[in-house]
This record gives sequence, structure tokens and C-alpha cells, in this order.
Amino acid sequence: GGPDPDQEIIDVRMGAIKHKILILSGKGGVGKSTVAYLLSLALAKCQSSKVGVVDLDICGPSIPKLLGVENQPIIQTPYGWKPLVSPNGDIKVMSVASLLDSDKTSVIFRGPRKTDTPPGTSDEHMSIVKLLKNAKPDGAVLVTTPQEVAMATMRKELSFCKKMGVTVLGLVENMSGLVCPCCKETTEIFPGSGVASLAESYGVPVLGSIPMDPMITECCESGRDPMENYPESPTVQSMMGISNHLIS
Ligand code: ADP
Repeated sequence: GGPDPDQEIIDVRMGAIKHKILILSGKGGVGKSTVAYLLSLALAKCQSSKVGVVDLDICGPSIPKLLGVENQPIIQTPYGWKPLVSPNGDIKVMSVASLLDSDKTSVIFRGPRKTDTPPGTSDEHMSIVKLLKNAKPDGAVLVTTPQEVAMATMRKELSFCKKMGVTVLGLVENMSGLVCPCCKETTEIFPGSGVASLAESYGVPVLGSIPMDPMITECCESGRDPMENYPESPTVQSMMGISNHLIS
């Protein structure tokens, strides 16, 4: 019986956010965190949007490191947990990683507490979609690499979105090629247009392709802002295009 107070808080708070975009991947290691990170920077910079990132990957949360709020404690207030703020770009961050005592502790959630989202199409994903039933997200951006193993899990993710009524905003093809550190030319690593045909067969767009880029890896490792340091790189250009498309 009765209204659920937690659900009411979610409805009010999430309802106040203009655009809510889910970033999903079918498997780990394909660049979901990297794309979420770069997209948050692009949205903050190019769209002058107020951006918040909620990292619900209980298997390998890496967003706090990428956004430079690693090891900062989360403060409890009468209104709930206060998000951390990134030093570059004022992006608000809330991550399951920040709720741990130290980054050396691994997260083991079992049973009902395990309602956050690792890669894949599990119970956790269903919980999230259900919690957002009254404050529906714009939709999901699905990140994949061109390898068949990644695309196979992407098909499941696409079916999941369809079944749950989540709009697929489009696919992002990550690691589509390799940027040469010397001449900056991009070389294709996986031949063929697998991601494009996958997208076509599901009637969804490819929002952009991001090459494997040592400059981006270096930024991610060192905390340097790729938007500032490599504005002309294909990765930054592509992310700016995607952010434009998502918010326009
Ligand atoms: P996921 O969140 O899907 O598990 P990550 O975003 O953590 O994957 O990416 C896995 C690793 O690959 C990270 O070390 C990241 O820096 C690297 N990586 C991902 N995408 C790129 C890219 N386009 N260029 C260079 N390195 C990348």
C-alpha cells in the first residue's frame, strides 16, 4: 500500500533534470566510462549545460578517477548525499566508487542492494529503468567496439531497450581505428562496417565513431582535459558532434 517515499523523491529530483541520457554497453572494457566522461566534458563545454554524471557500474567504477574526484568522501546532508564536483568543468559526480572506504576495496553487493548497473542487461538495468518510470530518460546511448564479441552483447542490449521501452538514441562505435601518435593518421583496425549494419538492422543511428587514441588514453590516465589539450583530435571533434546532436 501507499505511495513509496523513495520513488517520490526520485520522481521530483529526476523530473527536474531536462535531459537524462543513459550510457550503456553490453560488456566491460569497450569504453562506456570513457565515452560517458568525454560526453560530460563536451556537454559542459560546448552546450554550456549543467552536467551531472551518475556512475552505477558496481563492477568497475572508474568515473571518479576520470573526473578527478577520486578518494573524496561523499557528504551526507539532510537532503541526501551531496555530489562531488570535478575540478575541470564543474561536473557533478556521484559514483558507487565514492561510497567505498577506499579504492582498494572491491564492491561486493548482493541481493537487494545490487540495484546499480554493471555492463549487460541484468536485473540491475531493469531496476534502474523501473525507478525512472515517472521521470523517463531521453533514451540510451549504446557503446560498442566493432568486434563481433562486443556486437553480440550489443544485440542483447538493443532488445533489452526495446522490451523495456527505452528509446535508443544511437550507437557509439569506440576503438574504430587507431590514431598514429606520430603522424595523427587514423588506421582501421577492424575491417568492414559491422557497427553500421548492426545499427541499420535495428533502425537506430550511429552517433559517431571514436578511434583508439593514445592522446586520449594519456589524458584519462593523467587527468588532463582532452577538450583543452587536444581540441582538434578526431575523438574530441566526434564527441562535440554527438553532444550537439543529443541536446539540440
Ligand atoms: P568500460 O567502462 O566499458 O569498462 P573504459 O572506458 O574503462 O571501459 O575503457 C577501458 C580502457 O580502454 C581504459 O583504460 C580506457 O582508457 C581505454 N580506452 C577506451 N576507449 C579508448 C579510446 N577511444 N582511445 C584510447 N583508449 C581508450
